[in-house]
Amino acid sequence: MEEHSPMRNTAEYDFDQARVRQVIAALGLNADEYLTRQLRAGLAGGYVEALVEACLSKLAHHLDFASIGHDDFGVAFRQGWIDYLQCFGLSFDTPAYFAERMAFSAACARAGISLGLLHLQHSLIVQSVIELLAASGKSAQDLQLLAVYVLKLGALDAYLATEGHREARIDTLQQALSESHEEVSRLHHKASTDQLTGLTNFSSLMEKLEQQIRKAEERKQPLCVLMADLDFFKKVNDTYGHMAGDMVLRHTAERIQAAVRDFDIVGRFGGEEFTIILKNTDIGLAEVIAERIRNEIAAAPMHIKGTNINITISLGGAMMKQGETREALLDRADAALYEAKQTGRNRVVFAAT
Ligand code: GH3
Ligand code: MG
Ligand code: MG
Repeated sequence: MEEHSPMRNTAEYDFDQARVRQVIAALGLNADEYLTRQLRAGLAGGYVEALVEACLSKLAHHLDFASIGHDDFGVAFRQGWIDYLQCFGLSFDTPAYFAERMAFSAACARAGISLGLLHLQHSLIVQSVIELLAASGKSAQDLQLLAVYVLKLGALDAYLATEGHREARIDTLQQALSESHEEVSRLHHKASTDQLTGLTNFSSLMEKLEQQIRKAEERKQPLCVLMADLDFFKKVNDTYGHMAGDMVLRHTAERIQAAVRDFDIVGRFGGEEFTIILKNTDIGLAEVIAERIRNEIAAAPMHIKGTNINITISLGGAMMKQGETREALLDRADAALYEAKQTGRNRVVFAAT
């Protein structure tokens, strides 16, 4: 039993007076002052605790019940039934009574008590109350009226227990469902993210490029792709070590992201190569963005082990042709990158349109 979920948190059950009347009418239950007085008199004089104890001990061998034990919940469970009997038959036609009964049952559900067990307990209580009244020397006529009255009250309480239990189960399931949704999206993010740079990884990048090609065709919008490759990166690794190389890769990823727009997609193609998908962008604008990336990196040398390392990057770009496949588009961007390397590095070359 959690500390924060009291046995009677009634706020969430909103039976209004009209619904209460409907339920009570369906059971043929009418508040009866005479019978209520008889009932209360029968339960007075310290019988309630003994009656609850007797009913609970009959359930002691039930598997669900065995798990309750004498912990905080066990104590609260006993007290719950004592409170239950202490207002048995009183103000049962009010929304507050409905809410109280449902909240008790919901708390039981959250503690793992099955609905079957709650019903058994209800039946035992009703039987015991009738037996108690039968032993109190009432007239046969009074006893018959009282027994029917108690059975109806018990039926109302069993109904409310079912409703409260069901609501709690639904809450629990909804919570579990939203937790598993969160877990799925966390795993999805992990599976599509490059661990070193935090950029979109290769497989996710390929999916996104496929999607963007489809959208660009549907909307008849231009789409450009940039392939970017660090210049002489092997030398960074050889001179300063692999860890320093990793820092340069992270730094490069940050600089590229700083140079592009929020909606551009930046991914790590692999190694020291990056791919940038520029949606709704024609070749003129793509050249401006590619230049901005090149500049951003060339203008921000890294300080490692007390030295400034100058980093440059070469970029190849291509604008999608009508009906062009993802592979063909990437090939053309890659060929432009190759040309940028061949013609001196630290430059941008675009494939012919
Ligand atoms: P170029 O200007 O022609 O591109 O020369 P380069 O040295 O950058 O090209 P090359 O392909 O010869 O070297 C790429 C290097 O990138 C080789 C590889 O060890 C290194 N590399 C690939 N992935 C990683 C990584 O995750 N971390 C580090 N530190 N290095 C990596
Ligand atoms: Mg390379
Ligand atoms: Mg390189």
